[in-house]
Amino acid sequence: MSYHVNENGYFGSFGGAYIPEMLYPNIEELKRVYSQMISDPAFTAEYTQLLRDYVGRPSPLYLAERLSQKYGASIYLKREDLNHTGAHKINNTVGQILLAERLGKKRIIAETGAGQHGVATATVCALKGLECVVYMGEVDIERQAPNVARMKMMGATVIPATSGSKTLKDATNEALRDWINNPADTHYIIGSVVGPHPYPDMVARFQSIISEETKWQLKEKTGSTEPDYVLACVGGGSNAMGMFYHFLDDANVRLIAVEAAGKGVDSGETAATTLLGKEGVLHGSRSIVMQTEDGQVVEPYSISAGLDYPGIGPQHAHLYASKRAQYVSITDDEAMEAALLLTQLEGIIPAIESAHAFAYLDKMQFKGGETVVVCLSGRGDKDLNTYMKYFGL
Ligand SMILES: *Cc1c(COP(=O)(O)O)cnc(C)c1O
Repeated sequence: MSYHVNENGYFGSFGGAYIPEMLYPNIEELKRVYSQMISDPAFTAEYTQLLRDYVGRPSPLYLAERLSQKYGASIYLKREDLNHTGAHKINNTVGQILLAERLGKKRIIAETGAGQHGVATATVCALKGLECVVYMGEVDIERQAPNVARMKMMGATVIPATSGSKTLKDATNEALRDWINNPADTHYIIGSVVGPHPYPDMVARFQSIISEETKWQLKEKTGSTEPDYVLACVGGGSNAMGMFYHFLDDANVRLIAVEAAGKGVDSGETAATTLLGKEGVLHGSRSIVMQTEDGQVVEPYSISAGLDYPGIGPQHAHLYASKRAQYVSITDDEAMEAALLLTQLEGIIPAIESAHAFAYLDKMQFKGGETVVVCLSGRGDKDLNTYMKYFGL
């Protein structure tokens, strides 16, 4: 079975490009320039150099000894939290800003939830001297204030999305609307493996550096490129896709994707997409979407702004439907406890998003001696306000 995109932009029965006619020329141009770019050695050289000298890659693969002791397995953390700007998002924005240059676009737009993608986009726009507009839900602007300040400091305009739940889904709607209105001069840097083809494939490829590095790092440390388990949290699914990418065809490696259950999967306040969702079209592709009987998108909820999304990328929908990866969910409370545990056992404050992946370790049964890689997608600085409120610090 192929887990990759076919020539029509589908992963199994998921994907495609469900877009208004106005955007056809943009998407066609994007597909053409993207496929030229990825086979151009000049692109590879510049991308690799920026990842090394600007982002700080390779990110370490760290054996967390006290955490390993607690669970009775060798637990390695892939330290995306140590990237410049504090999360995996920058791997993708560096790739896409090089694409924008090749497209000759002078204006960049983006959507953001936790603000990490907004910051990563504002960062590469500053680096390349391009105009940057970021759409962000009003609720997220409030709970991620430090990231809003960082974007503004880098010269970006942050526009609040005030419809719906005023979070990531609504910001994405606003960004798509902007692109439809400004198709000629604007490139839309989507922050996850969602959106119309070729975005899901493109973002996954830019993030695949995560598993590419993990394989040789594991080989150095353990003698094998294959762990028993790989875990990552899923909002739209970009850190998970990057973490899974080079393991997809290694049938012995079990892939576990952790969604946000919010206040519980039956609480009505949740973002557990695979559990509650059905097939549908959201933001330009066919995937699994949380929706009502008559197809209205359900407002998602999670304590972590980056997981507060009612869909998942189409490649994840395919991995779910084909059972290549296992999809599970973790509540707000479980994630917060796991964040505290990681902080006190390892001295690492994770993003609340990443803490969802760590929380699942508690639900796994280890025989002893298994090798586990967890993607530490980002650091927790942006979440200090939420941690302070939750723990009464
Ligand atoms: C944005 C974000 C996520 C969720 O997005 P994915 O596309 O699912 O990776 C997870 N962790 C962190 C730290 C983020 O900033």
